[in-house]
Amino acid sequence: MGRIEAGTAPSSGLRRVRPAVVAAAVTVACFVDLGPARAADPASVARTTPERAAELAAAGWWETVLSEVPAMENELGDRWPMIVWHGPGQAPLPAERIQALLDRGITQNLTLDTNHIEAARALQEAGSKVIFMQGRAGNWPYSLAPDSSVWAHQFDEGYTYEEAGPGPLGQWHGACPLQHAGWAVLADQIRDTLTAFREAGVTVDGLWMDWEGDPYPFNNLFGQLRHCRRCRRQLPPEVLEEYEAWWDFYWRAYTQLHGAYVAGPAREIFPAIAVTNWHVVFSSRTDPLLYFVDDRVLPPLAPPLFTATNPVAYGNDTWWNRMWRDEEYELDRRHVDQFYMHCLLRGVSADAANRAAYGPQVMSFPWVTRFCPLESGGDDAVPDMSRAAYRECLRHLWLRDIDGMQLFNARWDGYEEDWVRELQDAVAVYDEILAHRELLAAGQAMNLTVPGVQDDGVLWSGLRSDDRAVVRAISQAAEPAQLDLEVWPGVPVELAAPVTGATYRIARTDSGCRVAEVR
Ligand SMILES: [Zn+2]
Repeated sequence: MGRIEAGTAPSSGLRRVRPAVVAAAVTVACFVDLGPARAADPASVARTTPERAAELAAAGWWETVLSEVPAMENELGDRWPMIVWHGPGQAPLPAERIQALLDRGITQNLTLDTNHIEAARALQEAGSKVIFMQGRAGNWPYSLAPDSSVWAHQFDEGYTYEEAGPGPLGQWHGACPLQHAGWAVLADQIRDTLTAFREAGVTVDGLWMDWEGDPYPFNNLFGQLRHCRRCRRQLPPEVLEEYEAWWDFYWRAYTQLHGAYVAGPAREIFPAIAVTNWHVVFSSRTDPLLYFVDDRVLPPLAPPLFTATNPVAYGNDTWWNRMWRDEEYELDRRHVDQFYMHCLLRGVSADAANRAAYGPQVMSFPWVTRFCPLESGGDDAVPDMSRAAYRECLRHLWLRDIDGMQLFNARWDGYEEDWVRELQDAVAVYDEILAHRELLAAGQAMNLTVPGVQDDGVLWSGLRSDDRAVVRAISQAAEPAQLDLEVWPGVPVELAAPVTGATYRIARTDSGCRVAEVR
């Protein structure tokens, strides 16, 4: 899920400040001297009224979903269901309930626990894929080793790990990154648990973990490293001394360890399993993947043994606080939507470009959300992405070589309705896209370029097979525009790109192509 965020560089001056304080300070800076409100000012995130919050609480998850999230017109069929953060829980579900979820393109996800064998069996028998997902952070799984002397930093006399400063997730006594004994224990736990499911006749289709602990590059872990006697012996000196070198080293270690000790064992038991973990992505020098809260460039890497990636597409307040330039950008709805569109598209797009080169069989299941207050727990002054722009964004993500989505539809205090809206938006767009299911299965992404952080051009995406294509085009300017494409070599086409977007089906013919707008 990721109410988590690896840190800013120490030089930013933000490192030792509580994230909430940072958010407040930056927000004030952005909103001073704005003058009178302009007609086109973006709305900030809409709070849920207490009456509505009470109504949702009284209705509960099932009644709310069944009454407020319409079933799709298109069948899910053999496509991957989406999974949801705020979902129906872990208890075994009756077949009709599972079908009601599949009718909305979603399914129940389970935690990796043999207590859930019956729930998994119910899903399988009702025709759903079986997908596990759960979150965890801290010094686990290093701490699974039988003795902390095997993994825990060996600090200099008098040093305590709190001296490294508070991290976004709190603090913990960090692990020596090269001491892998606990990871081997985790690997055996995964083997044992998945074997129990297999022996019960359950095929696990997806293991989409949300394990974000050590050695994810949290600043407090960098702060601890140089005070550890063992790490000073084991690690290259630049990793101890240079923040950027440390960040890249930890990012790679995080990806590699989960590949070796999570993806590897999972594939031993279920060779065809779709296995990924929080923010596992490909990055390269030619298609560098930028982080989801700022312009940090992730180091080149190809995740080992994973069969799926997990780019992160979050409309988040950290992105706003760090990257919005009030003196350069126009503060209106259209430009705020452009700002978030850039952020949400770029991770999925770069990962797709890199998968095509380095892992063409690797699938992708991004985490997505329109509204994610990472820092402030909901700050009314941070403008959000409009729901219309978010739905537009989801359409383009689907047309960029992904296989499914994980919906971070968290239930935030004060914004209790938002989890429902996230479902409504994602289900409605999946329904639209499933009308082109043969291209989802066999098509190739036609465009992975990402509009700039402020960009009045045409945003377009498409999937193409040998003789069919689907293209979505929208003008990000105030006026409609035109998109000139060569859909196949020697087959040009002109498409209107209205400000509200349009979808086109294109069929190849002997003389060129035939275009039909999808209504
Ligand atoms: Zn150490």
